[in-house]
Amino acid sequence: MTQSFSQLQLHPHLAQAVAEMGYESMTPIQAQAIPVVLQGRDVMGAAQTGTGKTAAFSLPLLQRMMAHENASTSPARHPVRALVLLPTRELADQVAQQVKLYAKHTKLRSAVVFGGMDMKPQTAELKAGVEVLIATPGRLLDHIEAKTAVLNQVEYVVLDEADRMLDIGFLPDLQRILSYLPKKRTTLLFSATFSPEIKRLAASYLQDPVTIEVARSNATASTVEQHFFSVQTDDKRAALKQIVRQRGIGQAFVFVNSKLGCARLARSLDREGLKTTALHGDKSQDERLKALDAFKKGEVDLLVCTDVAARGLDIKDVPAVFNFDVPFNAEDYVHRIGRTGRAGASGLAVSFVASSDARLVADIEKLIRNKIEIEPFELEDNRGGERRERLNDGSRLYRDEDRGSRRPERSERAERTSAPRPAPKPVDPFFDRPYEPNPQAPEQPAWESSAKVPSRVSANIKTKRKVAALFKATD
Ligand code: AMP
Repeated sequence: MTQSFSQLQLHPHLAQAVAEMGYESMTPIQAQAIPVVLQGRDVMGAAQTGTGKTAAFSLPLLQRMMAHENASTSPARHPVRALVLLPTRELADQVAQQVKLYAKHTKLRSAVVFGGMDMKPQTAELKAGVEVLIATPGRLLDHIEAKTAVLNQVEYVVLDEADRMLDIGFLPDLQRILSYLPKKRTTLLFSATFSPEIKRLAASYLQDPVTIEVARSNATASTVEQHFFSVQTDDKRAALKQIVRQRGIGQAFVFVNSKLGCARLARSLDREGLKTTALHGDKSQDERLKALDAFKKGEVDLLVCTDVAARGLDIKDVPAVFNFDVPFNAEDYVHRIGRTGRAGASGLAVSFVASSDARLVADIEKLIRNKIEIEPFELEDNRGGERRERLNDGSRLYRDEDRGSRRPERSERAERTSAPRPAPKPVDPFFDRPYEPNPQAPEQPAWESSAKVPSRVSANIKTKRKVAALFKATD
């Protein structure tokens, strides 16, 4: 049964924003969570990204805060009342953009703070007063330390993507932040899965929460066509290109397990003529936002990324996801393929399974409660011009008409128009050199390295203290 937003009786300014977003009815998580949050109950929600969970917590919080809405210029009249914590900068940015849209007709203010960006503009915004603060834990602790974030009037806390925050090692930071907050508050926790650690976190910080589960937490969308191909490591790149070409795939996410592999793969695919960019923690914040933007605008075909970098990103209609590496953590498989086949659209998820990946595949099998059939993959033999694509069962994986409608890849187009074949490009030794991280990037990018420094407040604090001591600066 579809449920309309009108039955919520949202403040007209919020209702107007929702209407402008073009939302016709509530998503299941919204239909279940919004009334509960409006009543002031704590919530433990199992919801994957793409389910509309940002609106599910933002709208009722904004609605409740409308009682405090005012146009005063005094910062004291705009204390932080709602705090939303997220594991990565991109997610924080994404949620902040949505909150701004929902609150745009109100006088409630919101701000986002995350690492990798200059503290000063964030400080100025915080000092002017904001009712909704969206933050990653490390940078928030910097602001708490600098006394620019004062949290003693917080009434609502959202721990979003809580499982990922724990995976990254943010638990000590979270515990510290939560210790600064008033005991009397509403706490909402969202997580893709309810692991024992998440349950423990909820037991410590939530009071009598209402549990809301919109889909089996380990479910993979039925609209996603999943294939596991047996491909040796050295053949993975050729296999990926072959599938992209044969399927006429316009855009895809390509997941790898390491930052190093991510950068190298993106570089070689790009060099081979596929418009590719990489998203990983050694890139500067600015580079990452640009990469995402280029992908969203369709200027880039393949986004090669690590799990942490891509987690929860709201990029719609990605036709395909490649697991270039089988994820170490089975839950990441669910998150990765959740990037495709969203909102009823069909999607393709292809995993390349090397001989050493048997245990990882078995873990995925257990998690998704489905038998995984590992299919042989035959690389086409371009030299003989013969395509060999027969599967074990004799059926053809890719039909000829698929090939007819595909968009030829650029390198192929170039080949067709240029006979005789150009001499192969000399191999640039740059690509054979070991990967070297970007010297501009922070030494320890908070979002990927914080797992290694869980007990420190954040990568920024020590440095800041040293610098502050040297220059006698306060900020
Ligand atoms: P989220 O899971 O919060 O990241 O939301 C995923 C996407 O769904 C966002 O682009 C939202 O704008 C969109 N969305 C949220 N709620 C609705 C709704 N009720 N109807 C249609 N789209 C929605």
